[in-house]
Amino acid sequence: MSDKKILVVADTNEFVSEHILQILSKARSLAEHYRSKVAALCVGTYRQERLETLLYYGAHYVFLFECNRSPSMGGVCDILASVIRQHEPAVVLFPATDWGKAVAAKLSVRLDVGLTADCIDVTLEDDFSFYRTAMNQTMLAKIRYINCNIRMGTIKKDVFVKKTWEYGTTGKIETFPTLLSNDDLDHSFLEILECVQIPQKIGMDLEKVSIAFCVGRGVKKKETCDRISQLAMRCGAGIIGTRAAVEMGLIEKERQIGQSGNSIAPKIYLGFGVSGASQHIVGIKNADLIIAVNTDKKATIFDYADYQIIEDLEDVIAEMEKQLLLVKRERSIVV
Ligand SMILES: Cc1cc2nc3c(=O)[nH]c(=O)nc-3n(C[C@H](O)[C@H](O)[C@H](O)COP(=O)(O)OP(=O)(O)OC[C@H]3O[C@@H](n4cnc5c(N)ncnc54)[C@H](O)[C@@H]3O)c2cc1C
Repeated sequence: MSDKKILVVADTNEFVSEHILQILSKARSLAEHYRSKVAALCVGTYRQERLETLLYYGAHYVFLFECNRSPSMGGVCDILASVIRQHEPAVVLFPATDWGKAVAAKLSVRLDVGLTADCIDVTLEDDFSFYRTAMNQTMLAKIRYINCNIRMGTIKKDVFVKKTWEYGTTGKIETFPTLLSNDDLDHSFLEILECVQIPQKIGMDLEKVSIAFCVGRGVKKKETCDRISQLAMRCGAGIIGTRAAVEMGLIEKERQIGQSGNSIAPKIYLGFGVSGASQHIVGIKNADLIIAVNTDKKATIFDYADYQIIEDLEDVIAEMEKQLLLVKRERSIVV
């Protein structure tokens, strides 16, 4: 068992965001491998049930530094710096939000430790490696830390899948009342009166999509794309696309999946006319089952697919429409 913890810094918001839960879940799986513990650090005011959620999603400990007044960025950094110095964790992870990036940057300078921004993966083999895109998103950089025992990283949203842990609820919540000096208070003219969670736009909640139909360049025509959308609607699936499909105007940019788009973790991914470029695959690496339709039997996507359909996608769509019609007829006969 390593005595070096993995720390996850939650934001000072009373809500525990999906983003934090995704990072925690990843931290916990790294900790299982490293035989270490995960601690979530919260500064501010949190509701009890929110803190318990952190345990449920992977934290062995939650350290709450409770302040009833809004701390300044400097105040937050003072608190976090002293916890990090005390625990000397192996890894400290922050959400790659504006707030997370600013706090991480200040702390890395103050503690003289390495920091990688906007990570899309963290792995542990003989040492921790952080991955991020580089050179204007054209390359994937693998970053190792030398001459520093604490490795810090800000993590992008939706690159990890949130996961509950069986023994999560046996973790501990420890509260430390924090007295802030006048300098540590947020003196901006903004005062937080109430925190309200804004519901996501209907139809864009890609995180919750359990079946995803993906439109690739091979779809070619808007009419074919509309037929795939119809099929998706009837199968309870969400519709997504590759960058090539977005550039062709087949699908909106918000639905682009991959390195420069969103990441998803559906139960089933069905790709129509998608070649399987690495920049797209990175966004679907957490899918449970991948089915690909492509006329080219050498298409890269078949290296990742659980089922390969080497057919013209128009024929596959026609067959799916036929089958759905049959199911509908059978149901109407039964009724
Ligand atoms: C910096 C950078 C960032 C990028 N970010 C992303 C990203 O976020 N997401 C992303 O998707 N891409 C991204 N890309 C682009 C990526 O490299 C690929 O160009 C893109 O994913 C290809 O999309 P595609 O598979 O739809 O098209 P193509 O690669 O053109 O593949 C089309 C496929 O359709 C098949 N096909 C054609 N006709 C039919 C038919 N009738 N029936 C069945 N199959 C057919 C073909 O055999 C082919 O395999 C990025 C690239 C760069 C450089």
